[in-house]
Amino acid sequence: MPCAYLQGVRSLAVLALLAGCTQLGVVSDGTSVSVGRSNKGKIVDGVRCDRGEGFVVPKKWRERGNRYGTDELVDLIVGLGRRLHGPTRLAVADLSMRGGGLARPWHRSHQSGRDVDLLYYVRDAQGKPFEPEEMYVFDAAGVEKTGTGITIDFPRTWKLVRELVTAPEAAVQRVFMYEPFAVKLLEHAVAIGEPELLVARARKALKQPGDSAKHDDHIHVRVFCSATDQTLGCEDGGPMDMMIGRDEEIAAITHALATKATTAVTATALPSAAIGALCTPTPAQPVCVRHTVPPHLTRLAALLGGGRRIDLRWL
Ligand SMILES: [Zn+2]
Repeated sequence: MPCAYLQGVRSLAVLALLAGCTQLGVVSDGTSVSVGRSNKGKIVDGVRCDRGEGFVVPKKWRERGNRYGTDELVDLIVGLGRRLHGPTRLAVADLSMRGGGLARPWHRSHQSGRDVDLLYYVRDAQGKPFEPEEMYVFDAAGVEKTGTGITIDFPRTWKLVRELVTAPEAAVQRVFMYEPFAVKLLEHAVAIGEPELLVARARKALKQPGDSAKHDDHIHVRVFCSATDQTLGCEDGGPMDMMIGRDEEIAAITHALATKATTAVTATALPSAAIGALCTPTPAQPVCVRHTVPPHLTRLAALLGGGRRIDLRWL
């Protein structure tokens, strides 16, 4: 059933609740509740998400059935599908199981309805965009590793990241991906003149996990607990930097995008955490600590850091 349809049903349910027609559940407020953490938790009244405008769930993940998320996460996916126009739809893989919990053997997280895997936008050997039916593993340049000629479409994937870090539907905590891809996306963003504040926000969100797969075959998105869910047992893990000054930052980015006034936002408007981690991991140091700014981001770094050398920690 399309997520958009389910959204409408849920809205009716909320209206019914407000009108006093429905009893409150044990912990639910009539909408979904993410309980616990991403790696130890469950979902109450999760929303099923199979397909909708602008996105598709390839057969492999449809059959797996890990299709449940919080209202906010599913709203985010629906919103992405509607906003990301292009020749192909966004391919959405696993969310959580019905009711959440440990989805063996696939995931350690994905337990509380706040995680979703997305496939990279790709092109075939002739450069033609297509909708992937599986996860391809890519080398650091974004070329599929077994010689199929399939490549990551970085410009389209940047548009996806841009939508994720500014989305109104849910507060995105992290966009996990292989660091060389993150650098390529940020290079592209700088090259096309995206607002510096947007690039900095994306830099904060894009992270290669230090304790699991490097995500050279898919993107993993995690959203924060909603304010209501926090009062009902939802627990955020990891850094909260994407929440610091979030509303103001997104408003400034939206303004900059609308007016193309990319220099209107200055370093002084940035919370210090927005400087983020401009760094490149090495094999010896996959989770990077204390790197200086790569040359291609020098102009951006100068704006963000006032020209000083930036020592950066990655978590
Ligand atoms: Zn995942």
